[in-house]
Amino acid sequence: MRRIAAGNWKMNGTGAELGEIETLAARNTDSVEVVICPPATLLSRAADIAGPVLVGGQDCHAAESGAHTGDVSATMLKDAGASFVIVGHSERRADHGETDADIAAKAQAGLDAGLNVIICVGETLDEREAGRTLDVVGTQLAGSVPDSAASNTVVIAYEPVWAIGTGKVPSNDEIEEVHGHIRQLLTERFDTGAEMALLYGGSVKPSNAAEIFAVPHVNGALVGGASLKASDFGGIIDALNASD
Ligand code: PEP
Repeated sequence: MRRIAAGNWKMNGTGAELGEIETLAARNTDSVEVVICPPATLLSRAADIAGPVLVGGQDCHAAESGAHTGDVSATMLKDAGASFVIVGHSERRADHGETDADIAAKAQAGLDAGLNVIICVGETLDEREAGRTLDVVGTQLAGSVPDSAASNTVVIAYEPVWAIGTGKVPSNDEIEEVHGHIRQLLTERFDTGAEMALLYGGSVKPSNAAEIFAVPHVNGALVGGASLKASDFGGIIDALNASD
């Protein structure tokens, strides 16, 4: 099973922050994949200094090229040195109105370009409180993960929207319930579904990472705020390395 610590810098970071990647690059990443997704403007400079750390994009357009002002294609990410791309982050779904079908098309573009694709799903607080979490996540998975997905190229990130950047984290039982459900759906649909890595995302920090990595079907984390500093992200990488 792949184990992955992926950092999403969102719209943070200029050249002055590349030193954080240099610090991470000096670490032994051991048996886990460490990925940093900086803003697109930093991708190629990050890739040049990342050593064993992999770099990725935070989004891509579904088309390979064309009249799409301001967008970046998966082929361009690959050309800039990326080996991963995140698609379907809740901030993209909310800020840009991305639908499951849009996300499936972006994911397919990432796969076609030879990238590993991290596909994000997760419920809002209203949906959780209405008892709809498993339904929402199941629908997002069914619509956002393309039929061509396989465990060597696709990673699923479960990120409850209410846990992102809030310091709130679901209980271990809640994480286990959703990850177990995702695992079951993936296993039913894909030949390699039992082996697809499942990341938890939402307020992961060095102080809670070990506990989260001990939850069944959690194979790593997608980290926002705590990925911006190599010292914090390093603590999360250490916890993943120490987990089974
Ligand atoms: C994210 O945006 O993917 C995320 C998990 O953010 P944070 O770790 O800051 O909650």
